[in-house]
Amino acid sequence: MTWTQQVAEPVIHFSAVGLTYPGPPAVTALRPCDLRIGRGEFVTVVGPSGSGKSTLLNIVGLLDAPTRGTYLLDGIDTGAVSEANRAALRSERIGFVFQSFHLLAHRSAQENVELAMLYQRLARRRRRVRAEAVLRRVGLGHRLHALPTQLSGGERQRVAIARALVSEPSLLLCDEPTGNLDSRTATSVLDLLRGLHQDGMTIVVITHDAHVAGQGQRTVTIQDGLLTERVSEQVIK
Ligand code: ADP
Ligand code: MG
Repeated sequence: MTWTQQVAEPVIHFSAVGLTYPGPPAVTALRPCDLRIGRGEFVTVVGPSGSGKSTLLNIVGLLDAPTRGTYLLDGIDTGAVSEANRAALRSERIGFVFQSFHLLAHRSAQENVELAMLYQRLARRRRRVRAEAVLRRVGLGHRLHALPTQLSGGERQRVAIARALVSEPSLLLCDEPTGNLDSRTATSVLDLLRGLHQDGMTIVVITHDAHVAGQGQRTVTIQDGLLTERVSEQVIK
């Protein structure tokens, strides 16, 4: 793939993508929708419980395949690749951040980040250097050797963000990233995401929280499986 193609292509390109769980009874959790998310965008997806957020996240994150439509990730038709290649695409191109941080309890911050590079053919020393650099980027250069239990909730989430970033994904996909944090810590994690966006990272944050949704450059709403994009007032004027 050439550099120009990479820049021109959206990271996420949905054409009439939908998902119906077979049941019985069948549940259409995502109604067929079109969605394009370009490189470097910061998009939030907001909707109440049961609206289809996890379904959307699972499709975007290649954890689940849609039952309708076409999903291109970086221009690659994800419906046309084998299960093994989907797993490879997922680990190379998508960094996941979850509400509960999913860190290994008996490993240091640095080891947690290094482990995310285990399947890349990198020498141990290169892995260590990269883990350190990305932990510095998220503001944890002074806590490299701390265990998760020695870190605050906000620091744990920073480690999880560092782990997601270390393989240089096309997309950082965050599911309620501040759901387990108090409001001050949540603000600092959102500030970090905004900084990453300013550095050029493509970010999708899925949330039920209107305040978190307001942090994005674009907000997509999901309700009863129907995606709609609120056009901001600036655009209307
Ligand atoms: P949210 O994450 O916004 O709470 P979900 O995507 O989890 O919403 O669920 C959307 C709808 O799909 C809900 O009505 C839910 O009950 C239904 N659903 C989710 N997973 C399944 C499944 N595996 N089988 C059948 N229905 C499901
Ligand atoms: Mg959910």
